[in-house]
Amino acid sequence: HQEIVRVALGGRSYDIVIGAGLLQKAGEHIARIAPGASCAIVTDENVARLHLPTVELSLKEAGLRSTTIVVPPGEASKSLAVYGRVCDEALAAKIERRDLIIALGGGVVGDLAGFVAASLRRGSRFVQIPTTLLSQVDSSVGGKTGINSSHGKNLIGAFHQPALVLADVDVLQTLPLREFRAGYAEVVKYGLIGDKRFFEWLEADAEAVFNSRSEQICAIAVSCETKATIVARDETEQGDRALLNLGHTFGHALERLTNYDSIRLVHGEGVAIGMVCAARFSARLGFCTPAVAERVERHLAGVGLPTRIRDIPDWSADAQAILDAMYQDKKVERGALTFILMRGIGEAFIAKSIAADEVLKFLEDE
Ligand code: NAD
Ligand code: ZN
Repeated sequence: HQEIVRVALGGRSYDIVIGAGLLQKAGEHIARIAPGASCAIVTDENVARLHLPTVELSLKEAGLRSTTIVVPPGEASKSLAVYGRVCDEALAAKIERRDLIIALGGGVVGDLAGFVAASLRRGSRFVQIPTTLLSQVDSSVGGKTGINSSHGKNLIGAFHQPALVLADVDVLQTLPLREFRAGYAEVVKYGLIGDKRFFEWLEADAEAVFNSRSEQICAIAVSCETKATIVARDETEQGDRALLNLGHTFGHALERLTNYDSIRLVHGEGVAIGMVCAARFSARLGFCTPAVAERVERHLAGVGLPTRIRDIPDWSADAQAILDAMYQDKKVERGALTFILMRGIGEAFIAKSIAADEVLKFLEDE
């Protein structure tokens, strides 16, 4: 089966097609929205080895010309240097505005290729073929693109919506389990934010989501719909979109303190620990019962995700260092700390002006 989630933003809309066998049909789908276009496929070395030939063949069969730009895997490719090289190669391949940049890969490739598309010839068309669970449920929805600066993550970027997203669950078969779990943390996040029934479905069926394509299609569709609804209400993050940061204020601080070293902590793992922190902090402040926090932790630990700061290998930073790292997050306004807290499962809310010493005391006890 196949699901289509329509994302409507600022008068424009695009489809996220979620299903199996979509890589083989990529050419067909793309030819429908951009007949005769030339395509520049941006991908990383890992994904190129596993999935590029299928996409290249499919484009060829649909009568689309394509050129391929391969970058090294990993966060380091979200750099000005790699961005410059991808732009130059796309221009050398004579990619025009009506042509297409295709991102084939995880969030790194999506963010990088998306930013290339946003800026190349002042804005070119863009198709996402996300290949990690995280990119299928998160980075391919909402139009944020960008690269990192020496001053921090995602500091150079643009909002640029894709023309089409193809989320093929078949590619998840080759994804390392650790990466799948990390993406799963973001899936759980959507349940915790505002959909108790979805969380309960995950609790009952997590194993199926890890193993069955049709359950994956459902979980991805619900996740994309939830994100699309929140983003449509608040495209540029003035209000409600902050709910999507559940677990991220803590999580980003932990990522920063592990120097974004993916051997110690990947983003979704930071989010898993961060969501447990948010739930435990909510209980401590009396917004929910301790049982709610225990339930969140039980589910995440049950699928093999880390849930506590002490689960991070070689952890040594103290509470003050974590608080300082939170203040460096671009999403944290000076002075008052804003947290996404929980009144219950599926009842997240934005809590403004949380006192720093409350946070510090909480972290000291963690
Ligand atoms: P990633 O792109 O680095 O992919 C993780 C690893 O999996 C890489 O080594 C990659 O080569 C490999 N891989 C990808 N697909 C594979 C497959 N099908 N089979 C085997 N290996 C595969 O990481 P990610 O977790 O997808 O994305 C993280 C990035 O996404 C971060 O840079 C983050 O800032 C960004 N992000 C952006 C948004 C947004 O809204 N734009 C949202 C969330 C995250
Ligand atoms: Zn995230």
